Amino acid sequence: MTVSSVLVVGGGIAGVSTVASLRTNGYAGELTLVSADAVPYDRPPLSKAYLAGGRDLESIVLQPSQWYADQKISLVGGAVAVAIRPDAGEVELADGRVLTADKIVLATGGRAIWPPIGEVRRDVSVGLPVGNGQDRPVVSDRSPIHVLREVADADRLRTQLVPGARLLIVGAGLIGAEVSSTARGLGAEVVLVDPLDPPLAAAVGIEVARWLHGLHANHGVEVLTTTVETLLETRTGVAAQLRGEPVSREFDAVLLAVGLVPETGLAEAARLDTSRGILVDAGQVTSHPAVLAVGDCARLRDHHRAEHWEAAQLDGARAAATILETEPPVATAPWWWSDRYGLHVEGVGEMRSADAEHIRVVRGTLGEPPFAVFTLRGERVIGAVAVDDPNAVRAARRMIDRGVDVRASDLADPETDLRRLLRGSR
Ligand SMILES: Cc1cc2nc3c(=O)[nH]c(=O)nc-3n(C[C@H](O)[C@H](O)[C@H](O)COP(=O)(O)OP(=O)(O)OC[C@H]3O[C@@H](n4cnc5c(N)ncnc54)[C@H](O)[C@@H]3O)c2cc1C
Repeated sequence: MTVSSVLVVGGGIAGVSTVASLRTNGYAGELTLVSADAVPYDRPPLSKAYLAGGRDLESIVLQPSQWYADQKISLVGGAVAVAIRPDAGEVELADGRVLTADKIVLATGGRAIWPPIGEVRRDVSVGLPVGNGQDRPVVSDRSPIHVLREVADADRLRTQLVPGARLLIVGAGLIGAEVSSTARGLGAEVVLVDPLDPPLAAAVGIEVARWLHGLHANHGVEVLTTTVETLLETRTGVAAQLRGEPVSREFDAVLLAVGLVPETGLAEAARLDTSRGILVDAGQVTSHPAVLAVGDCARLRDHHRAEHWEAAQLDGARAAATILETEPPVATAPWWWSDRYGLHVEGVGEMRSADAEHIRVVRGTLGEPPFAVFTLRGERVIGAVAVDDPNAVRAARRMIDRGVDVRASDLADPETDLRRLLRGSR
């Protein structure tokens, strides 16, 4: 069937990548992007330069407004889709408009989790907006409790990151760690709480995870391996009762950085298959042939859901290829990056705890950037993480994608040219 109209719901990187890929690959039909934000913007800077005050909204938009006009993409900005009707090809917006398309692409991303933290008590007239783990409670602009997913979240948090402000960060994953770094840069006093020691071991391997976590203390963050039992909003901030401590501590602000719930509401209401994400096949098609899903909201059946920028972008390119019935982009090992305390971290492939068959190889000296740690199964690289050494990760990615055999001793030697190993020569 010739597709003559496509409607994408959600203006994050996955949605924008979908419309961009469609046009780049010759799609000339109607193209509509429904975006809750006036102009789609990028999220990674929200915990880094944007939060630090070094960039403004205009500098983090994914494309300038004119681009949508130039590409003949109808950008329906500031609009929220409230229902999709796949059989009729309809998308209903909150303002009552109903748009139609041959193909609907869901690119609705996810919401930050509001964890159900223990008992929540009220001290003052404003109740503490701690959620049920799913829904985002309504918070006032002055609330000292924060999550970080949207530009408005970053704007609100930034007003509280002043020199000497006491910030509690719950969760030391990638976002909690980045905000710790940014907040220290702005002069805030940071307490970082996580029950795991070290966090992120599944993403970067235990050795690098331990070193990265240690950076917080080196930069004046108080790091605690525990959980938060209760949060009590007071007239001046928040009293947090941490497990194992005799009395509660006072903070000016709290950031809850404990993960993401995929935004599957539209798909569920339309009775598409969902389970920890909107379930898709390798071409991003959901259980309804007229509906595709991409990015953080989607999960490839029998796989983990990726929550990284590049994965969302590639999903968009794959969805476009499916719609155009062209060759999909070449599959490649998943890649991500993160920045903290002036260091640039990148990872690719699989770094989960090594089993008996896995070998860890350090290139350089662990803890002295630049360095990289590779995971090998036999002579095959299956993952790598590097600090201030993006070339090592780039090479590792090619090794994984091409299935090149390498000797651990060659990899470990910083003098070895990784491009030579890629060519298969020893
Ligand atoms: C603070 C922060 C820092 C990050 N840093 C990094 C990093 O350093 N490296 C990295 O690899 N990844 C990073 N990520 C992850 C990366 O940004 C995400 O994986 C990526 O944004 C996912 O893109 P997406 O388009 O799938 O979803 P999103 O970016 O969540 O976009 C979805 C969009 O859809 C909109 N939407 C939802 N429902 C509707 C509806 N019904 N109608 C209309 N619009 C709707 C939402 O408002 C949103 O704008 C970071 C994420 C955050 C939040």
